[in-house]
Amino acid sequence: MIEPATALSEVYANIAKAAKIARREPSDIELLAISKTHPAEAIEPLIRAGQRVFGENRVQEAQAKWPALMETHDAISLHLVGQLQSNKAEDAVRLFDCIHSLDRPSLVTALAKAFDKLGRRVPCFVQVDIGEEEQKGGCPISEVPALLGEAREADIPVIGLMCVPPLDLEPAPYFALLAKIAADNGLDKLSMGMSSDYETAIMLGATHVRVGSALFGARS
Ligand SMILES: *Cc1c(COP(=O)(O)O)cnc(C)c1O
Repeated sequence: MIEPATALSEVYANIAKAAKIARREPSDIELLAISKTHPAEAIEPLIRAGQRVFGENRVQEAQAKWPALMETHDAISLHLVGQLQSNKAEDAVRLFDCIHSLDRPSLVTALAKAFDKLGRRVPCFVQVDIGEEEQKGGCPISEVPALLGEAREADIPVIGLMCVPPLDLEPAPYFALLAKIAADNGLDKLSMGMSSDYETAIMLGATHVRVGSALFGARS
């Protein structure tokens, strides 16, 4: 397997290349290193190589790994990219700096309550069920405006939209659709693109790419 620091610089080089083709600034694209399933020993080399923004998909796993890493390393920013159960909202708000999976009214309520209780509001993305695949989570496209309205009412800082396109299909049309829905709703951040398609996502406006296996190797 290639060295984590080498993998990291390759991914940043690819981001810069894609940004250049799209006539965008590489600094407008945030790389989230998705460290789910990987232990602290696999994460530390990336931190040492300068990476500070990470993503996890499960609250409990993140609680087990990250407090210790944050104690020894400064300025870590941790993003939640997986589905969030309402009863874990408070734990999530305590640990994460950004939540990419706001997808339903009950979670708006739970997050608003957690924000108030903890006196801390973290930026959120509304996750859109862009391929209309029920099992994947995400707000149905037709319900996005209403959910955004409810989030606004509840004082939840929604900064953009997030999606996971259907597996094994060309992702570009889905990225383009997410960008259009965001623009229609006055949002300018787009969390889209993973190891296999982050360059395509950048061409279509991604501001946050979520890259796991290209940095850490395959998950077992
Ligand atoms: C695991 C995961 C990723 C990273 O996937 P890779 O293909 O390993 O880059 C990105 N986004 C979400 C929501 C994930 O769960």
